[in-house]
Parts: sequence; structure tokens; C-alpha cells
Amino acid sequence: MSAKRRIAVLGSRSVGKSSLIIQYCQNEFVESYYPTIESTFAKSVPFKNAEYDCEIIDTAGQDEFSILNSKHAIGIHGYVLVYSVSSRNSFDMIQIVYDKIIDFCGVSNIPCVIVGSKIDLDKSRQVRPDEGQKLAKANESAFIETSAKTNTNVAKVFELCLAEIEKRTPSSQTE
Ligand code: GDP
Repeated sequence: MSAKRRIAVLGSRSVGKSSLIIQYCQNEFVESYYPTIESTFAKSVPFKNAEYDCEIIDTAGQDEFSILNSKHAIGIHGYVLVYSVSSRNSFDMIQIVYDKIIDFCGVSNIPCVIVGSKIDLDKSRQVRPDEGQKLAKANESAFIETSAKTNTNVAKVFELCLAEIEKRTPSSQTE
């Protein structure tokens, strides 16, 4: 039996959460912009000699005023927190969202990958890689920069997330 892993993808509006998930699950990049309400994608992922049934939850964008939904905390194994390297505001939201999850779950840390998206937009970069790296380190999270458009490091995001989950949950455990 394969283990189930529920992964929630959070971050500000239009940082590319849906694009990242669609590129990963459906191997395509959709240029048009449909604001997400909330949807769930499924993908079976071979990882370290095991098969994982991943359920990836695409959340509506967060801002400092939106209240974290219990759906984003209960039964979630791992988190992917996305900002756009071309938006300083979206980067600043990461710590806010991270702290909200920690608070909500009543834990000191969570299995988490911090993702700097849209690296193909290098000319409009506002956040340096080392800033993302530093933020991730401070929160004991993995870090990676991606582009859903050019399909750079997209699968890596979810592999890192599975690895972060694995650090805390033995693969034999299915819940
Ligand atoms: P979400 O609101 O976070 O789910 O963001 P979307 O996935 O809907 O993306 C918002 C906008 O950014 C859309 O117009 C996408 O086409 C664009 N976008 C998403 N990912 C990338 C990327 O890697 N590179 C570029 N250049 N644009 C992207």
C-alpha cells in the first residue's frame, strides 16, 4: 500500500502557486490567469523506493488579513510556501504565513519548503537567492528557486517536501 501525503501550497495571490502545481501534475504551463478558489490535485510520486499518493492542495492566495483555514492545518503532512522572486511583498508574506501555521498547529516547526518562483523573470528580480536561503534556514525549512514557465526545479519542490515530511514521519506510516 502506498503512503498518502497531503501537501498544502500557500503564499500570496498570483505568485504562481497554481502554475507550479499544474506544471507538476499535468506538465503544462497555462499563461492565462484564473484566480484560485481552492482545488486539489493528485499525483502518484515514486520517492526513495516507495510510492506516495500525493494530494496537493492549491489554496486561494493569502495576505496578512486572511485567516488561515483549519483545512490548511489539519491532516496536512507538509507545506510548500511560495513567493515570487519578482515581488518583495510576496517574500515578506512568507514569514507571516509560516508563523500563522505554527500558531494554528501549536507546534514549533513544520515540514516545509520555501519556494522562490518565476526565476525566468530575472530582469525584474526583487529578492536575491541568499535572502530566500536565509529565511528558510531561520525556519528550518528547505529552499529552492523555480520557474513553472520553463519547468525549472518544479519536481524538486515536491521531492524536497516529501523529504522534509520523511524526516519526521516514517514511510511506513500512512496517516
Ligand atoms: P497563484 O494565484 O499563486 O495560483 O498564481 P498563478 O499560478 O495563477 O500565476 C499568476 C500569474 O503568474 C499567471 O499569469 C501566470 O501565468 C504567471 N506565472 C506563474 N508562474 C510563472 C513563472 O514561472 N514565470 C512567469 N514568467 N510567469 C509565471
